[in-house]
Amino acid sequence: MRIDLHTHSFVSDGTDAPADLMREAKAAGLDVVALTDHDTAAGWPEAQRAADEVGITLVPGMEISTRLGSASVHLLAYLLDPVHPPLVAALDRILDGRNGRVPAICAQLRAVGVDVTEEDVRRSAGDAAATGRPHIADVMVATGAVGSRDEAFAKFLNPGRPGYVRRYACPLEEAIGLVGQAGGVPVIAHPWGRAPGALTEETLAGLTAIGLRGLEVDHQEHSPQARQTLRGIARNLGLVVTGSSDHHGTGKVDHDLGCHTTDPDEYERILALATSAPSTGSAAAPRRG
Ligand SMILES: [Zn+2]
Ligand SMILES: [Zn+2]
Repeated sequence: MRIDLHTHSFVSDGTDAPADLMREAKAAGLDVVALTDHDTAAGWPEAQRAADEVGITLVPGMEISTRLGSASVHLLAYLLDPVHPPLVAALDRILDGRNGRVPAICAQLRAVGVDVTEEDVRRSAGDAAATGRPHIADVMVATGAVGSRDEAFAKFLNPGRPGYVRRYACPLEEAIGLVGQAGGVPVIAHPWGRAPGALTEETLAGLTAIGLRGLEVDHQEHSPQARQTLRGIARNLGLVVTGSSDHHGTGKVDHDLGCHTTDPDEYERILALATSAPSTGSAAAPRRG
């Protein structure tokens, strides 16, 4: 059984429709795939219909934007109730923060001679639940200001670069609590990918005590050494170990569907830990930013 527990559709910053993503997952030989768009469940109903059609198991999920101190941490959440009111309130606040910083980023880019208008960005975002930096990067690629999304982030959009603007992210401890209350299973995405210093074993032990359930270990951003060490930490703390592609369609290179996978036994642990039976039907009303 091949299991990929982290993918994005164009409902966040991927490039595929949720239904196309399910078809591609099937074609890539996957049996189980999680849809984990940033801070939204809006893609679940379409993905579920397509998953049923092609005969693949969808794990409804999302990737929540959180912070731990000054570090940005992404929290994967699986099998959660998407209409749990406190969770919805937190997600709305995150999405509003993401949308709200687009004008400020455009102004800062123009100040350094990169011509990006809000209108171009909204058009580039299309049906996404929130408009964000990947869409700004796409405009910069289209106008020839940079050669790729990665270059746009490295030169302009990452913290410390001239187009960076801070936004609201939910405190990590609060997000772990909300996911648990919503019946879901919280797993830290690429824990040592972007903020390697923040998540020490001691910190992870504290987070486990308040409800963290797993670590995404096998991810493109982790070196073989980091994976080995994280696997040991997960074992010490009794955490589930996952592996995933973090697929973004053509929005991110080297993240092909199924390039990393989750062991079936670990997947079974996630299923056993979930305490809600989330509806992937119309209850997960799409929210357009
Ligand atoms: Zn992430
Ligand atoms: Zn992701």
